[in-house]
Amino acid sequence: MMRVKSVAFQSLCDGEVWRGGASSDINHVIDRGAKLRDFLEKLETRKVRKLVERSNLFEELDDYEFQRRFRLTKESVAELTLLIEDKLESKTTCNNVLNRVEQVLIALRFYAVAYMQLAIADLFNVSQPTVCRVVHRVSEAIASLLPDFIHQPVNIEECKKGKKETLEWCMKANLIASRYECSRCKKKYAFAKAKGNGYEWRCRNQSKDNRHDVVRSVRKGT
Ligand SMILES: [Zn+2]
Repeated sequence: MMRVKSVAFQSLCDGEVWRGGASSDINHVIDRGAKLRDFLEKLETRKVRKLVERSNLFEELDDYEFQRRFRLTKESVAELTLLIEDKLESKTTCNNVLNRVEQVLIALRFYAVAYMQLAIADLFNVSQPTVCRVVHRVSEAIASLLPDFIHQPVNIEECKKGKKETLEWCMKANLIASRYECSRCKKKYAFAKAKGNGYEWRCRNQSKDNRHDVVRSVRKGT
């Protein structure tokens, strides 16, 4: 009987049709052999998971090329990664897991080019769903830093103070004019509070021969 079983199995594995007797034992052997063969075929055709070695763009790119691609310097990326590293810890310990810098770089590249996630995935040798997850995770981590870097005004006084500081910052950045000369007396306008909450340029001259009170919008010419 053992010989019959081994012949049947060998025949199935070799792709030959076994033409032996029709006893129930033999049918059972043929059935087992067919199942085993199906299993082996599935095992062979199963997609083998490949561990792709990813390139280290942080080291491979020079400072100029790095900043062109990610809009931040390497130092800034390192600083940002340190600030949010606890939120980028991987939940799995499997091999080839994305490290924290790689996660930040994926998100930065996505912000920089507003690109298709699949294209970013190809650049970093990861899957598109991975890019989607990483961009969400890094974005939430960066957003959580907001209270440390941005102070939102909480009352009217702070709003007013913020308005003046914003205008002064715009003047420093040359976005609006930082001085004007009065066309009536050739003196500089004063940067003064306007009625309401705003600010304006104003020249008030009380002299008898050239009395005037001229107001100019801080936004004029912008
Ligand atoms: Zn004047």
